Amino acid sequence: MLQTKYIFVTGGVTSSLGKGIISASLAKLLQARGYLVTIQKLDPYINVDPGTLNPYEHGECYVTEDGAETDLDLGHYERFLGIPTSQANNVTTGRIYQSVINKERRGDYLGKTVQVIPHITDEIKRRIKMLGSRNKVDFVITEIGGTVGDIESLPYIEAVRQLKWELGDRNALSIHLTLVPYLQASGELKTKPTQHSVKMLLENGVQPNILVLRTEHELSDEIRKKVALFCNVDVESVIQSIDVNTIYEVPILMQIEKLDVIVMKKMGIDSVGTPEMRPWKKFLKSLQNPRHSVRIALVGKYVELADAYISINESFKHAGAANLCAVEMDYIHSEDIDEYNCTELLKDHDGILVAPGFGDRGIDGKILAARYARENNIPFLGICLGLQCAVIEFARNVLKLEKAHSTEMSLKTPDPVIDLMEEQKGITEKGGTMRLGAYPCILVKGTKVHAAYGVEEISERHRHRYEFNNKYLDVFTNAGMVPAGINPDTSLVEIMEIRAHKWFIGVQFHPEYNSTVLKPHPLFVSFIKSAMS
Ligand code: GLN
Repeated sequence: MLQTKYIFVTGGVTSSLGKGIISASLAKLLQARGYLVTIQKLDPYINVDPGTLNPYEHGECYVTEDGAETDLDLGHYERFLGIPTSQANNVTTGRIYQSVINKERRGDYLGKTVQVIPHITDEIKRRIKMLGSRNKVDFVITEIGGTVGDIESLPYIEAVRQLKWELGDRNALSIHLTLVPYLQASGELKTKPTQHSVKMLLENGVQPNILVLRTEHELSDEIRKKVALFCNVDVESVIQSIDVNTIYEVPILMQIEKLDVIVMKKMGIDSVGTPEMRPWKKFLKSLQNPRHSVRIALVGKYVELADAYISINESFKHAGAANLCAVEMDYIHSEDIDEYNCTELLKDHDGILVAPGFGDRGIDGKILAARYARENNIPFLGICLGLQCAVIEFARNVLKLEKAHSTEMSLKTPDPVIDLMEEQKGITEKGGTMRLGAYPCILVKGTKVHAAYGVEEISERHRHRYEFNNKYLDVFTNAGMVPAGINPDTSLVEIMEIRAHKWFIGVQFHPEYNSTVLKPHPLFVSFIKSAMS
Protein backbone atom coordinates (compact mmCIF):
# COMPACT_ATOMS: atom_id res chain seq x y z
CA MET A 1 0.00 0.00 0.00
CA LEU A 2 1.33 3.39 -1.03
CA GLN A 3 1.03 6.54 0.99
CA THR A 4 -2.18 7.93 -0.54
CA LYS A 5 -1.52 9.98 -3.68
CA TYR A 6 -3.88 12.76 -4.75
CA ILE A 7 -4.57 13.59 -8.38
CA PHE A 8 -6.64 16.64 -9.32
CA VAL A 9 -8.41 16.92 -12.65
CA THR A 10 -9.50 20.37 -13.83
CA GLY A 11 -10.89 21.53 -17.14
CA GLY A 12 -10.58 24.63 -19.27
CA VAL A 13 -11.76 26.26 -22.51
CA THR A 14 -15.23 24.66 -22.50
CA SER A 15 -17.30 22.36 -20.37
CA SER A 16 -18.26 18.83 -21.50
CA LEU A 17 -14.72 17.84 -22.53
CA GLY A 18 -15.02 14.55 -20.73
CA LYS A 19 -13.16 15.15 -17.46
CA GLY A 20 -15.23 12.41 -15.85
CA ILE A 21 -14.26 9.89 -18.51
CA ILE A 22 -10.57 10.87 -18.37
CA SER A 23 -10.64 10.57 -14.55
CA ALA A 24 -12.38 7.19 -14.77
CA SER A 25 -9.98 5.98 -17.49
CA LEU A 26 -6.88 6.90 -15.49
CA ALA A 27 -8.44 5.26 -12.44
CA LYS A 28 -9.12 2.12 -14.49
CA LEU A 29 -5.52 1.90 -15.67
CA LEU A 30 -4.19 2.32 -12.13
CA GLN A 31 -6.70 -0.22 -10.82
CA ALA A 32 -5.64 -2.63 -13.59
CA ARG A 33 -2.10 -2.32 -12.23
CA GLY A 34 -3.34 -3.56 -8.89
CA TYR A 35 -3.81 -0.28 -7.02
CA LEU A 36 -6.79 0.74 -4.92
CA VAL A 37 -8.33 3.82 -6.44
CA THR A 38 -11.31 6.02 -5.77
CA ILE A 39 -12.68 8.99 -7.66
CA GLN A 40 -14.39 12.05 -6.27
CA LYS A 41 -16.39 14.80 -7.94
CA LEU A 42 -16.48 18.31 -6.53
CA ASP A 43 -19.39 20.28 -7.96
CA PRO A 44 -19.28 24.07 -7.65
CA TYR A 45 -23.06 24.65 -7.61
CA ILE A 46 -24.94 25.65 -4.49
CA ASN A 47 -27.54 22.86 -4.35
CA VAL A 48 -26.63 20.58 -1.45
CA ASP A 49 -26.95 17.66 -3.85
CA PRO A 50 -28.35 17.20 -7.37
CA GLY A 51 -31.43 15.38 -6.00
CA THR A 52 -33.49 18.55 -6.26
CA LEU A 53 -32.32 19.33 -9.81
CA ASN A 54 -34.55 18.77 -12.82
CA PRO A 55 -32.81 16.30 -15.21
CA TYR A 56 -32.94 18.98 -17.91
CA GLU A 57 -30.55 21.03 -15.77
CA HIS A 58 -27.87 18.52 -15.02
CA GLY A 59 -28.74 15.15 -16.54
CA GLU A 60 -29.48 12.08 -14.49
CA CYS A 61 -29.26 12.02 -10.72
CA TYR A 62 -27.18 8.98 -9.81
CA VAL A 63 -27.89 7.17 -6.54
CA THR A 64 -25.21 5.43 -4.49
CA GLU A 65 -25.66 2.35 -2.31
CA ASP A 66 -25.65 4.49 0.82
CA GLY A 67 -28.52 6.55 -0.58
CA ALA A 68 -26.71 9.69 -1.74
CA GLU A 69 -28.21 11.53 -4.70
CA THR A 70 -25.17 12.44 -6.76
CA ASP A 71 -23.73 13.72 -10.01
CA LEU A 72 -23.96 11.42 -13.02
CA ASP A 73 -20.16 11.22 -13.25
CA LEU A 74 -20.24 8.88 -10.25
CA GLY A 75 -22.11 6.49 -12.53
CA HIS A 76 -19.14 6.50 -14.92
CA TYR A 77 -16.75 5.92 -12.02
CA GLU A 78 -18.70 2.87 -10.88
CA ARG A 79 -19.20 1.50 -14.39
CA PHE A 80 -15.47 1.79 -15.12
CA LEU A 81 -14.11 0.61 -11.78
CA GLY A 82 -16.81 -1.82 -10.68
CA ILE A 83 -16.60 -0.60 -7.08
CA PRO A 84 -19.30 1.32 -5.25
CA THR A 85 -19.03 5.01 -4.49
CA SER A 86 -20.67 6.77 -1.55
CA GLN A 87 -21.86 10.15 -0.34
CA ALA A 88 -18.24 11.17 0.27
CA ASN A 89 -17.45 10.80 -3.44
CA ASN A 90 -19.58 13.79 -4.41
CA VAL A 91 -19.31 17.16 -2.71
CA THR A 92 -21.07 20.36 -3.73
CA THR A 93 -20.50 23.96 -2.70
CA GLY A 94 -23.89 23.80 -0.97
CA ARG A 95 -22.71 20.91 1.19
CA ILE A 96 -19.40 22.63 2.01
CA TYR A 97 -21.14 25.83 3.07
CA GLN A 98 -23.79 23.89 4.97
CA SER A 99 -21.16 22.20 7.15
CA VAL A 100 -19.16 25.40 7.66
CA ILE A 101 -22.30 27.33 8.62
CA ASN A 102 -23.39 24.53 10.98
CA LYS A 103 -19.97 24.70 12.67
CA GLU A 104 -20.24 28.47 12.93
CA ARG A 105 -23.67 28.19 14.57
CA ARG A 106 -22.29 25.67 17.06
CA GLY A 107 -19.58 28.17 17.96
CA ASP A 108 -16.76 25.94 16.71
CA TYR A 109 -14.82 28.88 15.24
CA LEU A 110 -14.39 30.51 18.66
CA GLY A 111 -15.26 34.05 17.67
CA LYS A 112 -13.21 34.13 14.47
CA THR A 113 -14.47 35.75 11.26
CA VAL A 114 -15.48 32.84 9.01
CA GLN A 115 -14.00 33.30 5.53
CA VAL A 116 -13.58 31.56 2.17
CA ILE A 117 -9.87 31.21 2.96
CA PRO A 118 -9.18 29.37 5.23
CA HIS A 119 -12.56 28.04 6.39
CA ILE A 120 -14.22 27.06 3.12
CA THR A 121 -10.95 25.87 1.59
CA ASP A 122 -10.16 23.87 4.76
CA GLU A 123 -13.53 22.13 4.53
CA ILE A 124 -12.85 21.31 0.85
CA LYS A 125 -9.40 19.94 1.71
CA ARG A 126 -10.81 17.93 4.62
CA ARG A 127 -13.30 16.24 2.31
CA ILE A 128 -10.62 15.42 -0.26
CA LYS A 129 -8.19 13.99 2.30
CA MET A 130 -10.91 12.15 4.20
CA LEU A 131 -11.64 10.05 1.14
CA GLY A 132 -8.03 8.86 1.08
CA SER A 133 -7.66 8.14 4.78
CA ARG A 134 -11.06 6.61 5.36
CA ASN A 135 -10.94 4.25 2.39
CA LYS A 136 -7.24 3.46 2.68
CA VAL A 137 -6.71 3.82 -1.06
CA ASP A 138 -3.51 4.29 -3.03
CA PHE A 139 -4.95 7.01 -5.24
CA VAL A 140 -7.71 9.57 -4.82
CA ILE A 141 -8.61 11.19 -8.12
CA THR A 142 -10.56 14.38 -7.53
CA GLU A 143 -12.40 15.89 -10.47
CA ILE A 144 -13.30 19.56 -10.14
CA GLY A 145 -16.57 20.32 -11.93
CA GLY A 146 -16.98 23.40 -14.10
CA THR A 147 -14.28 25.25 -15.99
CA VAL A 148 -11.23 27.14 -14.76
CA GLY A 149 -12.09 30.83 -14.61
CA ASP A 150 -15.64 30.29 -13.31
CA ILE A 151 -16.18 32.44 -10.23
CA GLU A 152 -17.72 29.54 -8.35
CA SER A 153 -14.75 27.21 -8.99
CA LEU A 154 -12.23 29.54 -7.35
CA PRO A 155 -12.29 28.09 -3.80
CA TYR A 156 -11.73 24.60 -5.25
CA ILE A 157 -8.74 25.68 -7.34
CA GLU A 158 -7.36 27.44 -4.27
CA ALA A 159 -7.78 24.23 -2.25
CA VAL A 160 -5.88 22.36 -4.99
CA ARG A 161 -3.09 24.96 -4.84
CA GLN A 162 -2.79 24.57 -1.08
CA LEU A 163 -2.89 20.77 -1.16
CA LYS A 164 -0.25 20.56 -3.89
CA TRP A 165 1.99 22.72 -1.76
CA GLU A 166 1.30 20.85 1.48
CA LEU A 167 1.60 17.34 0.06
CA GLY A 168 4.47 17.93 -2.34
CA ASP A 169 5.06 16.84 -5.94
CA ARG A 170 5.35 13.16 -5.11
CA ASN A 171 1.96 13.00 -3.43
CA ALA A 172 -0.16 15.48 -5.35
CA LEU A 173 -0.39 16.21 -9.02
CA SER A 174 -2.72 18.08 -11.32
CA ILE A 175 -4.05 17.20 -14.73
CA HIS A 176 -5.67 19.90 -16.83
CA LEU A 177 -7.99 19.04 -19.67
CA THR A 178 -8.50 21.50 -22.52
CA LEU A 179 -9.77 21.66 -26.07
CA VAL A 180 -7.63 22.08 -29.19
CA PRO A 181 -10.13 23.30 -31.79
CA TYR A 182 -9.73 22.57 -35.49
CA LEU A 183 -10.31 25.45 -37.85
CA GLN A 184 -11.81 24.05 -41.00
CA ALA A 185 -11.06 27.12 -43.12
CA SER A 186 -7.33 27.08 -42.50
CA GLY A 187 -7.10 23.35 -41.81
CA GLU A 188 -5.27 23.99 -38.54
CA LEU A 189 -5.41 22.87 -34.92
CA LYS A 190 -5.25 25.84 -32.55
CA THR A 191 -3.41 25.82 -29.24
CA LYS A 192 -4.12 29.38 -28.08
CA PRO A 193 -7.20 28.49 -25.98
CA THR A 194 -5.07 25.91 -24.15
CA GLN A 195 -2.34 28.47 -23.49
CA HIS A 196 -4.92 30.92 -22.10
CA SER A 197 -6.54 28.28 -19.97
CA VAL A 198 -3.22 27.25 -18.43
CA LYS A 199 -2.38 30.93 -17.83
CA MET A 200 -5.63 31.25 -15.94
CA LEU A 201 -4.69 28.27 -13.77
CA LEU A 202 -1.25 29.78 -13.20
CA GLU A 203 -2.84 33.06 -12.12
CA ASN A 204 -4.54 31.02 -9.43
CA GLY A 205 -1.22 29.50 -8.42
CA VAL A 206 -1.63 26.05 -9.93
CA GLN A 207 0.93 24.72 -12.40
CA PRO A 208 -0.61 21.69 -14.14
CA ASN A 209 1.74 18.71 -14.33
CA ILE A 210 -0.02 16.97 -17.20
CA LEU A 211 -2.17 18.37 -20.00
CA VAL A 212 -4.80 16.29 -21.72
CA LEU A 213 -5.87 17.89 -24.98
CA ARG A 214 -9.21 16.99 -26.45
CA THR A 215 -9.02 17.03 -30.24
CA GLU A 216 -10.78 15.88 -33.38
CA HIS A 217 -7.48 15.29 -35.22
CA GLU A 218 -4.14 13.71 -34.27
CA LEU A 219 -1.78 16.16 -32.57
CA SER A 220 1.58 16.46 -34.32
CA ASP A 221 4.85 16.42 -32.37
CA GLU A 222 5.19 20.05 -33.29
CA ILE A 223 1.93 20.96 -31.58
CA ARG A 224 2.82 18.95 -28.51
CA LYS A 225 6.18 20.72 -28.31
CA LYS A 226 4.57 24.12 -28.70
CA VAL A 227 2.05 23.45 -25.92
CA ALA A 228 4.83 22.08 -23.68
CA LEU A 229 6.92 25.20 -24.23
CA PHE A 230 4.13 27.66 -23.52
CA CYS A 231 2.69 25.81 -20.56
CA ASN A 232 5.83 24.68 -18.63
CA VAL A 233 5.17 20.94 -18.94
CA ASP A 234 7.42 18.31 -20.46
CA VAL A 235 6.46 17.21 -23.92
CA GLU A 236 5.69 13.63 -22.85
CA SER A 237 3.12 15.09 -20.45
CA VAL A 238 1.12 16.61 -23.30
CA ILE A 239 -1.43 13.92 -23.99
CA GLN A 240 -4.01 13.79 -26.71
CA SER A 241 -7.56 12.67 -26.16
CA ILE A 242 -8.95 12.17 -29.61
CA ASP A 243 -12.68 11.83 -30.30
CA VAL A 244 -13.79 8.20 -30.31
CA ASN A 245 -17.01 6.33 -30.97
CA THR A 246 -17.45 5.02 -27.47
CA ILE A 247 -16.30 6.26 -24.08
CA TYR A 248 -15.14 2.71 -23.36
CA GLU A 249 -12.24 3.17 -25.80
CA VAL A 250 -10.80 6.01 -23.74
CA PRO A 251 -8.91 3.88 -21.17
CA ILE A 252 -7.19 2.08 -24.04
CA LEU A 253 -6.29 5.37 -25.72
CA MET A 254 -4.95 6.72 -22.43
CA GLN A 255 -2.88 3.56 -22.07
CA ILE A 256 -1.42 4.13 -25.54
CA GLU A 257 -0.65 7.73 -24.55
CA LYS A 258 0.97 6.36 -21.34
CA LEU A 259 -1.08 8.54 -19.01
CA ASP A 260 -0.73 5.98 -16.19
CA VAL A 261 3.03 5.66 -16.70
CA ILE A 262 3.55 9.43 -16.66
CA VAL A 263 1.47 9.83 -13.51
CA MET A 264 3.43 7.09 -11.75
CA LYS A 265 6.76 8.44 -12.87
CA LYS A 266 5.92 11.90 -11.58
CA MET A 267 4.86 10.45 -8.26
CA GLY A 268 8.01 8.39 -7.90
CA ILE A 269 6.35 4.99 -8.40
CA ASP A 270 8.01 2.23 -10.37
CA SER A 271 5.90 1.57 -13.46
CA VAL A 272 7.19 -1.81 -14.58
CA GLY A 273 4.65 -4.12 -16.19
CA THR A 274 1.42 -3.16 -17.89
CA PRO A 275 -2.17 -2.80 -16.70
CA GLU A 276 -4.25 -5.98 -17.01
CA MET A 277 -6.79 -4.72 -19.53
CA ARG A 278 -7.69 -8.03 -21.20
CA PRO A 279 -11.23 -8.30 -19.75
CA TRP A 280 -11.87 -4.68 -20.74
CA LYS A 281 -10.61 -5.29 -24.28
CA LYS A 282 -12.78 -8.37 -24.55
CA PHE A 283 -15.83 -6.27 -23.65
CA LEU A 284 -14.81 -3.63 -26.19
CA LYS A 285 -14.43 -6.24 -28.91
CA SER A 286 -17.92 -7.61 -28.23
CA LEU A 287 -19.35 -4.10 -28.15
CA GLN A 288 -17.76 -3.21 -31.47
CA ASN A 289 -18.41 -6.46 -33.32
CA PRO A 290 -22.05 -7.36 -32.71
CA ARG A 291 -23.66 -10.23 -34.61
CA HIS A 292 -27.25 -9.30 -33.87
CA SER A 293 -29.25 -6.15 -33.42
CA VAL A 294 -32.40 -5.02 -31.64
CA ARG A 295 -34.40 -1.82 -31.50
CA ILE A 296 -35.54 -0.70 -28.09
CA ALA A 297 -38.05 2.09 -27.46
CA LEU A 298 -37.26 4.16 -24.40
CA VAL A 299 -40.44 5.94 -23.38
CA GLY A 300 -39.77 8.87 -21.07
CA LYS A 301 -40.33 12.56 -20.66
CA TYR A 302 -36.75 13.83 -20.68
CA VAL A 303 -35.83 12.24 -24.00
CA GLU A 304 -34.50 15.47 -25.54
CA LEU A 305 -31.47 15.17 -23.29
CA ALA A 306 -29.59 11.87 -23.64
CA ASP A 307 -27.81 12.45 -20.30
CA ALA A 308 -31.14 12.25 -18.47
CA TYR A 309 -31.13 8.46 -18.92
CA ILE A 310 -27.39 7.89 -19.09
CA SER A 311 -27.22 4.90 -16.75
CA ILE A 312 -30.00 3.16 -18.67
CA ASN A 313 -28.21 3.84 -21.97
CA GLU A 314 -24.94 2.50 -20.63
CA SER A 315 -26.66 -0.56 -19.14
CA PHE A 316 -27.96 -1.38 -22.62
CA LYS A 317 -24.43 -1.14 -24.02
CA HIS A 318 -23.12 -3.55 -21.37
CA ALA A 319 -26.04 -5.94 -21.91
CA GLY A 320 -25.76 -5.63 -25.68
CA ALA A 321 -22.07 -6.57 -25.61
CA ALA A 322 -22.85 -9.54 -23.37
CA ASN A 323 -25.30 -10.75 -26.04
CA LEU A 324 -23.11 -9.71 -29.01
CA CYS A 325 -26.03 -7.53 -29.97
CA ALA A 326 -26.14 -3.93 -31.12
CA VAL A 327 -28.86 -2.10 -29.20
CA GLU A 328 -30.41 0.68 -31.19
CA MET A 329 -32.27 3.09 -28.92
CA ASP A 330 -35.30 5.08 -30.00
CA TYR A 331 -36.25 7.79 -27.57
CA ILE A 332 -39.97 8.39 -27.60
CA HIS A 333 -41.46 11.28 -25.72
CA SER A 334 -44.27 9.97 -23.55
CA GLU A 335 -46.29 13.13 -24.24
CA ASP A 336 -46.23 12.30 -27.95
CA ILE A 337 -47.97 8.95 -27.52
CA ASP A 338 -51.74 8.79 -27.76
CA GLU A 339 -54.16 5.96 -28.43
CA TYR A 340 -54.27 6.76 -32.15
CA ASN A 341 -50.54 6.77 -32.87
CA CYS A 342 -49.35 4.29 -30.23
CA THR A 343 -49.14 1.31 -32.61
CA GLU A 344 -47.43 3.35 -35.28
CA LEU A 345 -44.83 4.67 -32.83
CA LEU A 346 -44.09 1.38 -31.10
CA LYS A 347 -44.68 -1.36 -33.66
CA ASP A 348 -41.14 -1.63 -35.02
CA HIS A 349 -39.50 -2.25 -31.68
CA ASP A 350 -38.17 -5.49 -30.21
CA GLY A 351 -38.48 -4.22 -26.66
CA ILE A 352 -40.06 -1.33 -24.75
CA LEU A 353 -38.66 0.36 -21.66
CA VAL A 354 -40.76 2.80 -19.65
CA ALA A 355 -38.42 5.10 -17.78
CA PRO A 356 -38.38 6.42 -14.22
CA GLY A 357 -39.85 9.85 -13.55
CA PHE A 358 -41.93 12.10 -11.38
CA GLY A 359 -45.28 13.82 -11.73
CA ASP A 360 -48.22 13.78 -14.07
CA ARG A 361 -46.73 15.02 -17.33
CA GLY A 362 -46.65 12.31 -20.01
CA ILE A 363 -48.12 9.68 -17.73
CA ASP A 364 -50.87 8.62 -20.18
CA GLY A 365 -48.30 7.89 -22.89
CA LYS A 366 -46.35 5.69 -20.50
CA ILE A 367 -49.48 3.77 -19.55
CA LEU A 368 -50.34 3.30 -23.24
CA ALA A 369 -46.80 2.01 -23.94
CA ALA A 370 -47.13 -0.55 -21.14
CA ARG A 371 -50.48 -1.66 -22.55
CA TYR A 372 -49.09 -2.00 -26.05
CA ALA A 373 -46.22 -4.17 -24.77
CA ARG A 374 -48.55 -6.32 -22.68
CA GLU A 375 -51.12 -6.90 -25.42
CA ASN A 376 -48.58 -7.53 -28.16
CA ASN A 377 -46.25 -9.78 -26.17
CA ILE A 378 -43.32 -7.39 -26.63
CA PRO A 379 -40.54 -7.62 -24.02
CA PHE A 380 -41.14 -4.85 -21.49
CA LEU A 381 -39.04 -3.41 -18.70
CA GLY A 382 -40.63 -0.80 -16.44
CA ILE A 383 -38.30 0.98 -14.05
CA CYS A 384 -39.69 2.71 -10.95
CA LEU A 385 -42.42 4.98 -12.42
CA GLY A 386 -42.32 2.51 -15.35
CA LEU A 387 -43.38 -0.32 -13.01
CA GLN A 388 -46.03 1.92 -11.48
CA CYS A 389 -47.47 2.69 -14.95
CA ALA A 390 -47.57 -1.02 -15.80
CA VAL A 391 -49.46 -1.70 -12.57
CA ILE A 392 -51.97 1.10 -13.25
CA GLU A 393 -52.46 -0.17 -16.79
CA PHE A 394 -53.05 -3.74 -15.63
CA ALA A 395 -55.52 -2.55 -12.98
CA ARG A 396 -57.48 -0.50 -15.47
CA ASN A 397 -57.57 -2.82 -18.46
CA VAL A 398 -57.32 -6.32 -16.98
CA LEU A 399 -58.82 -5.92 -13.52
CA LYS A 400 -61.35 -3.40 -14.90
CA LEU A 401 -60.64 -0.91 -12.11
CA GLU A 402 -61.13 1.86 -14.62
CA LYS A 403 -60.15 4.75 -12.39
CA ALA A 404 -57.13 3.06 -10.82
CA HIS A 405 -54.18 5.41 -10.43
CA SER A 406 -51.20 6.37 -8.32
CA THR A 407 -51.94 8.87 -5.57
CA GLU A 408 -48.95 10.82 -6.91
CA MET A 409 -51.16 11.76 -9.89
CA SER A 410 -54.65 11.50 -8.44
CA LEU A 411 -55.43 11.85 -4.76
CA LYS A 412 -59.10 11.07 -5.39
CA THR A 413 -58.74 7.77 -7.22
CA PRO A 414 -61.07 5.08 -5.85
CA ASP A 415 -58.35 2.49 -6.52
CA PRO A 416 -54.95 3.71 -5.36
CA VAL A 417 -52.97 0.75 -6.70
CA ILE A 418 -49.82 2.83 -6.20
CA ASP A 419 -49.79 4.75 -2.96
CA LEU A 420 -47.50 6.81 -0.78
CA MET A 421 -45.31 4.77 1.53
CA GLU A 422 -46.29 5.01 5.18
CA GLU A 423 -42.96 6.60 6.16
CA GLN A 424 -43.36 9.24 3.43
CA LYS A 425 -46.62 10.59 4.79
CA GLY A 426 -46.17 13.96 6.46
CA ILE A 427 -42.77 14.64 4.84
CA THR A 428 -42.74 18.10 3.28
CA GLU A 429 -39.02 18.73 2.62
CA LYS A 430 -37.91 17.73 -0.87
CA GLY A 431 -34.14 17.22 -0.53
CA GLY A 432 -32.93 13.71 0.35
CA THR A 433 -36.28 12.57 1.75
CA MET A 434 -37.21 9.78 -0.66
CA ARG A 435 -36.63 6.07 -0.10
CA LEU A 436 -33.03 6.12 -1.24
CA GLY A 437 -30.19 3.67 -1.65
CA ALA A 438 -29.78 -0.09 -1.53
CA TYR A 439 -32.38 -2.42 -0.01
CA PRO A 440 -32.51 -6.21 -0.07
CA CYS A 441 -35.06 -8.10 -2.11
CA ILE A 442 -35.96 -11.80 -2.09
CA LEU A 443 -36.80 -13.24 -5.50
CA VAL A 444 -39.71 -15.64 -5.94
CA LYS A 445 -38.65 -19.02 -7.29
CA GLY A 446 -39.95 -19.93 -10.70
CA THR A 447 -40.16 -16.33 -11.93
CA LYS A 448 -38.28 -14.89 -14.89
CA VAL A 449 -36.36 -12.54 -12.64
CA HIS A 450 -35.21 -15.41 -10.49
CA ALA A 451 -33.94 -17.16 -13.61
CA ALA A 452 -32.27 -13.95 -14.83
CA TYR A 453 -30.40 -13.22 -11.60
CA GLY A 454 -29.71 -16.88 -10.76
CA VAL A 455 -29.70 -16.07 -7.02
CA GLU A 456 -32.37 -15.75 -4.37
CA GLU A 457 -31.42 -12.52 -2.62
CA ILE A 458 -30.42 -9.32 -4.41
CA SER A 459 -29.72 -5.76 -3.36
CA GLU A 460 -30.77 -2.88 -5.58
CA ARG A 461 -30.89 0.90 -5.29
CA HIS A 462 -34.02 2.98 -4.88
CA ARG A 463 -35.25 6.51 -5.39
CA HIS A 464 -38.99 6.86 -4.93
CA ARG A 465 -41.81 7.83 -2.59
CA TYR A 466 -44.67 5.66 -3.88
CA GLU A 467 -45.07 1.89 -3.89
CA PHE A 468 -47.33 -0.95 -4.97
CA ASN A 469 -50.36 -1.03 -2.66
CA ASN A 470 -50.36 -4.49 -1.06
CA LYS A 471 -54.16 -4.38 -0.59
CA TYR A 472 -54.38 -5.26 -4.27
CA LEU A 473 -51.80 -8.02 -4.24
CA ASP A 474 -54.26 -10.93 -4.39
CA VAL A 475 -56.34 -9.58 -7.24
CA PHE A 476 -53.23 -8.89 -9.29
CA THR A 477 -51.77 -12.32 -8.57
CA ASN A 478 -54.99 -14.10 -9.45
CA ALA A 479 -55.12 -12.26 -12.76
CA GLY A 480 -51.56 -13.21 -13.69
CA MET A 481 -49.44 -10.18 -12.72
CA VAL A 482 -47.45 -11.59 -9.83
CA PRO A 483 -45.00 -10.28 -7.27
CA ALA A 484 -41.58 -11.65 -8.21
CA GLY A 485 -39.45 -9.83 -5.64
CA ILE A 486 -40.30 -8.70 -2.10
CA ASN A 487 -38.39 -6.70 0.47
CA PRO A 488 -37.90 -9.18 3.35
CA ASP A 489 -38.08 -6.52 6.08
CA THR A 490 -41.05 -4.43 4.96
CA SER A 491 -42.93 -6.74 2.54
CA LEU A 492 -42.87 -3.95 -0.06
CA VAL A 493 -43.29 -5.30 -3.57
CA GLU A 494 -40.09 -4.72 -5.49
CA ILE A 495 -40.83 -6.57 -8.74
CA MET A 496 -44.00 -7.49 -10.64
CA GLU A 497 -44.09 -9.71 -13.68
CA ILE A 498 -46.76 -11.06 -15.98
CA ARG A 499 -46.51 -14.82 -16.04
CA ALA A 500 -48.13 -15.49 -19.39
CA HIS A 501 -46.10 -12.84 -21.21
CA LYS A 502 -42.85 -13.40 -23.11
CA TRP A 503 -40.94 -11.01 -20.81
CA PHE A 504 -42.87 -8.35 -18.91
CA ILE A 505 -41.10 -7.11 -15.81
CA GLY A 506 -41.51 -3.99 -13.70
CA VAL A 507 -39.06 -3.10 -10.94
CA GLN A 508 -39.51 -0.51 -8.21
CA PHE A 509 -35.73 -0.13 -7.93
CA HIS A 510 -33.16 1.13 -10.44
CA PRO A 511 -31.14 -1.75 -11.90
CA GLU A 512 -29.34 0.72 -14.19
CA TYR A 513 -27.24 2.02 -11.27
CA ASN A 514 -25.73 -1.42 -10.79
CA SER A 515 -24.61 -2.30 -14.31
CA THR A 516 -20.87 -2.13 -14.98
CA VAL A 517 -18.63 -2.86 -17.94
CA LEU A 518 -17.32 -6.11 -16.51
CA LYS A 519 -20.58 -7.05 -14.75
CA PRO A 520 -23.53 -6.22 -16.98
CA HIS A 521 -26.81 -6.21 -15.12
CA PRO A 522 -28.68 -9.55 -15.32
CA LEU A 523 -32.08 -7.92 -15.94
CA PHE A 524 -30.79 -5.89 -18.89
CA VAL A 525 -28.94 -8.94 -20.25
CA SER A 526 -32.09 -11.04 -20.00
CA PHE A 527 -34.26 -8.26 -21.49
CA ILE A 528 -32.00 -7.97 -24.54
CA LYS A 529 -31.86 -11.74 -24.91
CA SER A 530 -35.64 -11.83 -24.94
CA ALA A 531 -35.82 -8.91 -27.40
CA MET A 532 -33.48 -10.85 -29.73
CA SER A 533 -35.63 -13.97 -29.82
N1 GLN B 1 -42.50 9.23 -8.92
C1 GLN B 1 -42.45 7.87 -8.47
C2 GLN B 1 -42.24 7.77 -6.97
O1 GLN B 1 -41.80 8.72 -6.35
C3 GLN B 1 -41.37 7.11 -9.22
C4 GLN B 1 -39.99 7.62 -8.95
C5 GLN B 1 -38.98 7.16 -9.98
O2 GLN B 1 -39.33 6.74 -11.06
N2 GLN B 1 -37.70 7.29 -9.65
O3 GLN B 1 -42.49 6.76 -6.39
